[in-house]
Amino acid sequence: MNKYEYIWLDGFEPEPSLRSKIKVTDGEPPEWSFDGSSTQQAEGGSSDCLLLPVEQYENPTNDGSLVMCQVHTGEHEVHPSNTRAAAEAVVSDEWWFGFEQEYFFTDNKGNPLGWEDGTPRPQGDYYCGVGSSNVVGREISEAHLDACLDAGIELTGTNAEVALGQWEYQCLGKGIKAGDDLWVSRYLLHKVAEEFGVSVNIHPKPKTGDWNGSGMHTNFSNEEMRTTGSEELFNSMCEKLGAVHEEGIASYGSDNDMRLTGTHETQSINEFSYGVSDRGASIRIPIYTVEHDWNGYLEDRRPASNADPYRIIAHLVGTLTA
Ligand code: MG
Repeated sequence: MNKYEYIWLDGFEPEPSLRSKIKVTDGEPPEWSFDGSSTQQAEGGSSDCLLLPVEQYENPTNDGSLVMCQVHTGEHEVHPSNTRAAAEAVVSDEWWFGFEQEYFFTDNKGNPLGWEDGTPRPQGDYYCGVGSSNVVGREISEAHLDACLDAGIELTGTNAEVALGQWEYQCLGKGIKAGDDLWVSRYLLHKVAEEFGVSVNIHPKPKTGDWNGSGMHTNFSNEEMRTTGSEELFNSMCEKLGAVHEEGIASYGSDNDMRLTGTHETQSINEFSYGVSDRGASIRIPIYTVEHDWNGYLEDRRPASNADPYRIIAHLVGTLTA
């Protein structure tokens, strides 16, 4: 018998939450159903929604599999909450995405780890820090890294971030699987943290004041950008994205205005700019790209830590292939 841990996104607004349940069965994971009236995806009178497996991973915590699913209605149609379908319709595997997921570990009252006795000393020592007065939660971050690698998700790195209790990992993927991988990496983050009695907060500004918010800088490229790029190509892509800046912001996570203030290495949410090596721009053209004769990638610095990667993919690829 096989143990399949089905994972899906619920119907909560403005961002979905992760849900899961386990099925024990022979053979491949079948289409399954759940009570959509408990996840804001259906009315009680006709509550069945359908789970369609889209991607499978080794389950790092048992000998079974994780099964990422998309949701259909009981009538076998794409559910309105299913943001994956729109992304899948526009993206192909030539598109690569590197998501820089930032987040805070918190206790179960919502205080960031390290903040239990009040506000810690100002930012400065924490970023990539070492020593127990400078970092907290490292053992959880490292357990999560191992869990993702065991699952077959390509995490390319982790680091302690600028605020105490804040961390980042980078998740690389191709095509629609990049979005699946990021969601499953988040699922594993919550689950690994559970084992430590710790919670995860992906809100873009958990602490107001002189504290960095959390973003999800999105690095992306396609075949042309990687192999036959030019300054004109990269500039024209930035211009295209700038022309639909408001649409992008609408797809890049809620409460992002609290983070994109024009300070703390961000551009204001009301402005669009791009530039080489510019961490105060909406889109950064990495020096790597320039030094490789304009072959490389772009970094969209606008997405918030709570953004839905399927919506980011749909916006970027939809805009740049229109
Ligand atoms: Mg970072």
